[in-house]
Amino acid sequence: MKINNCPFCSSENVENRTIEKPDKLPDGTPFKYKYEVLVCLDCDTITDVDKKNDTAYLAAHESAKKQYVDKICQDLSNKGWSMAYIERAFRLPQRTITRWKSQGCSASGMALMSLVGIMPWLAKIADHNYDQAIAAGEVIAQAGNLIVGAATSNDCTTTVKIYSSEKSLNIIAGIHKNQKSCAILSTEPQTDNIINTEYELLRA
Ligand SMILES: [Zn+2]
Repeated sequence: MKINNCPFCSSENVENRTIEKPDKLPDGTPFKYKYEVLVCLDCDTITDVDKKNDTAYLAAHESAKKQYVDKICQDLSNKGWSMAYIERAFRLPQRTITRWKSQGCSASGMALMSLVGIMPWLAKIADHNYDQAIAAGEVIAQAGNLIVGAATSNDCTTTVKIYSSEKSLNIIAGIHKNQKSCAILSTEPQTDNIINTEYELLRA
C-alpha cells in the first residue's frame, strides 16, 4: 500500500527519495541496494515505502551472494581445488556449486562455501568419511603450514617453544605481525607457571 502522508505526524508535506544502503556478506564483502523511503519534511521521520525495499534488498543480496560464491570458486580453482572434487567429497549432487554460482544458494550453502573457501582441506576430511584421525592430521598439518609460512614471511615473526617433562609435553607457538599477535598455538598453557608466562607474553 502506498503511503502519502507521514505515519508519525500525518503531515502531507512528504517527499519520496531513493537512497543507497550498504550491507555486508558474511566475509565482510560490501554490497549496496537501492532503498525507497518517504521523508517527512515536517518531523524528519524516514519511512520505508510500501515494502518494495524487501524485494530490492533480496535482489541485491542474491546478486552479491552469486559474486561471492564465484570469487570463492575462482580462489579455490587457483589453488588447485576442483569443484567436482569438492562436490564429491561433501556428497553434493553434481554441478551443485555451478548452480550456486549462477542461481544463488541458501544460507547453508553460503556457510559451507565460506568455510571451504578459507579451509579447503575440510574437503579432504569429508572425502575420508569424516575420520577423526584424518581430521586431526589435517589440523596439525595446517597449523604447521601456518607457522612455517609465517616464519618464512618478511612481515611476521614466529616463536616456537617446546617444553617436555616426564609427565607432559607442551608446545607453544606464536605468530606476530606488525608487533601484534595474530595466532597462538598452545597445547596446555595453564599447567605450569613458566609456560603460562611464556604464553601470556606471546599473546601480548
Ligand atoms: Zn512527520
